[in-house]
Amino acid sequence: MDASRLISQRARAINASGIRKVFDLGAKLKDPFNLSIGQPDFPVPEPIRRAAVHAIETNHNGYTVTQGIAPLRERLAAHLKRDLGWDCDNRPLAAGTGTGGGDPSRPGLTVTSGTSGALLLAFLAILNPGDEVIFGDPYFVMYPHIARMADAKPVLCDTYPDLRLTAARAEKLITPKTKMVLLNTPSNPAGVVATNKECRDLLDLCRSKGILLISDEIYDEFTYDDARESSPLEPGVRRCPSPGRYPGAAETVLLVRGFGKTYGVTGWRLGYAAGPRAIIEEMNKLQQYTFVCAPAPLQHGAIAALDYDMTEHISAYKARRDKVMEALSPVTEVISPGGAFYAFVKVPEKMGMTATQFVTAALEKNVLVIPGNVFSARDTHFRLSYAASERSLSGGLEVLAEMMKG
Ligand code: PMP
Repeated sequence: MDASRLISQRARAINASGIRKVFDLGAKLKDPFNLSIGQPDFPVPEPIRRAAVHAIETNHNGYTVTQGIAPLRERLAAHLKRDLGWDCDNRPLAAGTGTGGGDPSRPGLTVTSGTSGALLLAFLAILNPGDEVIFGDPYFVMYPHIARMADAKPVLCDTYPDLRLTAARAEKLITPKTKMVLLNTPSNPAGVVATNKECRDLLDLCRSKGILLISDEIYDEFTYDDARESSPLEPGVRRCPSPGRYPGAAETVLLVRGFGKTYGVTGWRLGYAAGPRAIIEEMNKLQQYTFVCAPAPLQHGAIAALDYDMTEHISAYKARRDKVMEALSPVTEVISPGGAFYAFVKVPEKMGMTATQFVTAALEKNVLVIPGNVFSARDTHFRLSYAASERSLSGGLEVLAEMMKG
């Protein structure tokens, strides 16, 4: 049998991740200055590891209910109440139907297999063939692909040069086919944090058009103090801006957050979604027949994670951000990241190179970064991750600055 003949159009339409290609090239280098990795480099805090190990040892190894174990959902509901003022209805849904108890007017909440799992389920729950989803360019690599997997159309909203997805930019792209706008703050690949006003304007736009605003806030905890703003609900309390922070927002906003980046557990595959109950229920139904549930013992680890204060780690990343800006802002254009652990650096025009050419030249000098065309219709910038060792960061910045100075 010729198995390749059987491959679907859906699969054929997808190229292997450009990030993977850089990783493959990097694998051939000896001790590169590696600034390409999109996950934190600190060890997982001990109490979080212990909680997961304890769960394994006390036999929490089977399936859980699809929406996640009750103590985790209760802990998450309390977190969202404190953080966003949301009053999630946490009563369990009737197994298998995706419907059942609970108050349809209150937001729903579900635990997913990674933030990616939440995004995929949301896309599958909402998009019909030909429907459109708008997101900022540059974007997180997964967005266009999961839109296509749902037979929908990804609509890229060009956000250069400031890399901000504003309501004014998104509005121009709305058509009768638009089902949702997808905001990512803090952003991958640029570390750009939306302001309160930008969040509010996007919320108002989506509300007025009757479309969903998905807010991918996987890096929410990684918002540095200088990008935090007074919360509209608790003036004086500085939080990461979110469109979820406004009265009634849970009717329009599907909030997607995760554990992987915040606590250094990307391999645990844990995320969650909260928002309009009708959508969460459909996501649960789809989860039942795909992922089934998020990994059981690690859901126990996640409860411990939510009690752990990561401030110290986040301050350490802010210091690295400052180091990146100090090294690169004198030689090129780079927007100071307000969060996450990425900077999206422009290849100086005077070099007359595409980002791919620049990244290839950097590889020859033993530095690994990702070309912008992996995240964008343009190939003018590269993504630098400062979730890297001190050696990689100092060594890599020195080489990159030297290349761009010339
Ligand atoms: N959204 C963004 C913006 C991301 O950067 C990532 C991971 N790189 C994800 C979602 C997916 O995260 P997870 O590992 O929780 O699936």
